[in-house]
This record gives sequence, C-alpha cells and structure tokens, in this order.
Amino acid sequence: SAEEVTASYLELIEKSSINGYTCTSDGALDTAKMVDKGEVAGPLAGVPIAIKDNISTKGLATTCSSKILEGYVPPYDAHVIERLKAAGAVIIGKTNMDEFAMGTSTESSCYGVTLNPWDHERVPGGSSGGSAAVVAAGESPISLGSDTGGSVRCPAAFCGVVGLKPTYGAVSRYGLISYANSLEQIGPMATCVEDIAAVMDVIGGYDARDSTSIDNKIDYQAALVDDVKGLKIGVPDEYFGEGVDSSTEKAVWDAIAKYEEMGASWGKVSMPNTKYALAAYYTIAMSEASSNLARFDGTRYGPRSEGENWHVMASRTRAENFGKEVQRRILLGTYALSAGYQDKYYLKALQVRTLVKQDFEKAFANFDVLMAPTMPLPAFKIGEKVEDPLSQYLTDVNTVPMNLAGVPCISVPCGSSDGLPVGLQIIGNHFDEATLIRAAYSFE
Ligand code: GLN
Repeated sequence: SAEEVTASYLELIEKSSINGYTCTSDGALDTAKMVDKGEVAGPLAGVPIAIKDNISTKGLATTCSSKILEGYVPPYDAHVIERLKAAGAVIIGKTNMDEFAMGTSTESSCYGVTLNPWDHERVPGGSSGGSAAVVAAGESPISLGSDTGGSVRCPAAFCGVVGLKPTYGAVSRYGLISYANSLEQIGPMATCVEDIAAVMDVIGGYDARDSTSIDNKIDYQAALVDDVKGLKIGVPDEYFGEGVDSSTEKAVWDAIAKYEEMGASWGKVSMPNTKYALAAYYTIAMSEASSNLARFDGTRYGPRSEGENWHVMASRTRAENFGKEVQRRILLGTYALSAGYQDKYYLKALQVRTLVKQDFEKAFANFDVLMAPTMPLPAFKIGEKVEDPLSQYLTDVNTVPMNLAGVPCISVPCGSSDGLPVGLQIIGNHFDEATLIRAAYSFE
C-alpha cells in the first residue's frame, strides 16, 4: 500500500547517515492513507517525492538552508507542489542545499554538508546536493531541485542519477525562492529517464503567476522512444578543455561511440564564446541575487536582530544570519550593479549572454543535440574547495552556458572515474525536451 511505501521511506530517512533531508513532512503518511482509500488519485498517486528546500511548501518549513529563514513556514504551495499534490504524489520531506542555492557542493548549508552516498568523504555536488543524494541513497525515488547554473545537473552527475534542467519558461517558478530569476528552472531528479518524463508531465506547462512561463505543450512520456537512428550529435570542443579529468573525458567519448553504434552520427562544433560564459554567469547571477535577497531584512521573515532603528536592525539581521558565501555574492552583485560600474560589468555580461545564446543557435542549425561532460571532474572531497571560492566557481564551466541561453539539458550517468559516477550532459534546443528525453532514454 501507499502507506507502507511511505512508512518504509520515512524509516530509511530516520536511519540515514548522509544528512540529505532538512526535515520530513508530518502530512506524508496522511496523504498516503488517502491514496489507499481512493480519496486521492492521479498519475503519481502514492509516489514519494523529496523537495529542495527553496521550493515553497504550505505548512512545511522552507528555509533555503539559511539561518535567515529559520522558522519560516510558507502559507502557500509553489506551482509545482500544487501540481504534484493534485497528481497524488506524497511530499516526503525537504532536502538540503547550498544556502540560497549558491554553490556546487552543499557545503554552505546552515544544516551542514550532505554526504555523497558513493563516498562519505566527498561532496554530493550542489546546490541541490540533498535532492540528488537522497535519490542515489534510495531515500526517495524522485526529487525536485533547481538549476540556476548547474544545480540539478552537477549533483545528478556527482551522485550517479538523472537530472533535467528544462527550457527556461517550461516549468513555473511561482513559489521558488529566487536566487537569480532570469537563469533558474525547477527540474526533476530520478534514477531513470522514465521517472523524469513522468514528473515533467505533471509539473510542466503554463502558469499565469510566473510572467516568464511559456505556453508550450510537450508530451514528455510520448518522447520515451528507444531509437536514435539519424540523430545528429554535435560535440563542442570547448567543453573538453583544460581541466577536464581524463577518465571523465573517456567515459563521455565512450558514450558518444555508443550512440554511433545505435545509428546516430556526430561531428565537432565550435562554440567560441564558451570561454566568457562563466564570468558572465557569475556577474549576472550575483547581480540578480543582490536584488532578490534584499527582501530578507528581519522585517517580514525569520529572525530579527536588535537595533535602535530599522537600518541597524536590518543590517545586523543580515550580517548575523546570511552565511559567508551569500554575503560575498550580495556585495559583489551590488558592486556590479552600482552607478559607474554597471556598464563595465553587468551590461557587458548581458552582451556576452547574447553571444553565448548565438553559439547555441548556430550549433542547433546543424545538430539535434550537443553532448559534453556535465562536470569536468568527479565529486571532490569535502573541504577541498571551501577556502578558495574561485576554484569552486570554475567547476561550473560546462553547466552555466545553458542557463545563459535558456536551453534544456539533462545529465545521465555514463560511467565512472576512480570509482565515482560521471555524468554525460545532453543539451537540446529551446523546448525540444522531446529529443533530449529520446536521446537519454535510448542510452539507458
Ligand atoms: N554553482 C552555481 C552557483 O553557485 C550554480 C548554482 C545553481 O545552479 N543554483 O551559482
């Protein structure tokens, strides 16, 4: 029964040693019981799902793994949660993440790091590290993450699961707590492509409450076709550059060879503006973050520090409750947006964003999908990149260009490096998730 399934997951979570959840839902068992009684039905009836802690869940704490949202319980559900509930899914709990989704390792969470289930000394990736780790550890069959610059794909790759970042506008962001709203999308993680398609059929589609939502119907499960004959694969040289680990590179080339055996063809493609994407991404993401996080000032949400007037109260609240990485990004973003520097940094970054988008447009004129390593290296050790934030930013080279361009992409497990999972990244044209899903499904 749904109740037994939910109870057994809750038991596993209780005994877990990976710290993937920030909390579990008291209502999970009740929903499961309603499913058993036939009071709740739908395509995901009785299926447990874990939700990243930056997606608003009515009555269930949502903190973005930040002290500044301690005790915050949203009075409403995000669009994706409404859809999941209507489909009968059981929201089982919230998952750990880098504070406000800023990071690649889940180390900046106020709840402490989540351990990679493959090797407890390593990070699970980030920022949706909890969502990937709990699926890899069998503590939930599926989960939702958010991907601003790789945060679904990176942890999916590091934990050996499948993760999809949909086209910008394909899934409503209503109720997703913004980090950098022009870049991010909510995306599912699971152990197989079928489950990804099943979740997308529920959460995808138009929502008037998100002004960037696009009415573009995609039948995700109809795309589960095991056939890539005639598929044209572009392989961008720039994604195999310096710093890509040799076993990772080999696993990806082996995957491409497998596609060739299955009847696809491949050719090289040049995407010359890739080298500017990382700098443009961080400039835009930090600028948007500095604006989006202005609302956390002790007035409406979370803890409030003492102060003789509003300014002192607000600045103390922010200084005492935002973590170091979040403060760094707010400061850099504010700088990039300030008068006198805006032209030099923020506007320049927007121009580069257009160039990166044009690289994709040109590539998709000749190819159906592009393939590359999701991450240049396998999961790194906990603590290894904490002191040097730039070295952590650099690991995002292969994941941020798609967020700048808004194109969909999926990471699927494709082998290993030193016993750790490697992700193959398949990138598609805007709203061509059907081709992505077909390619990923055929590979399994
Ligand atoms: N690692 C990237 C960053 O820190 C991506 C984060 C994300 O996608 N949320 O900004």
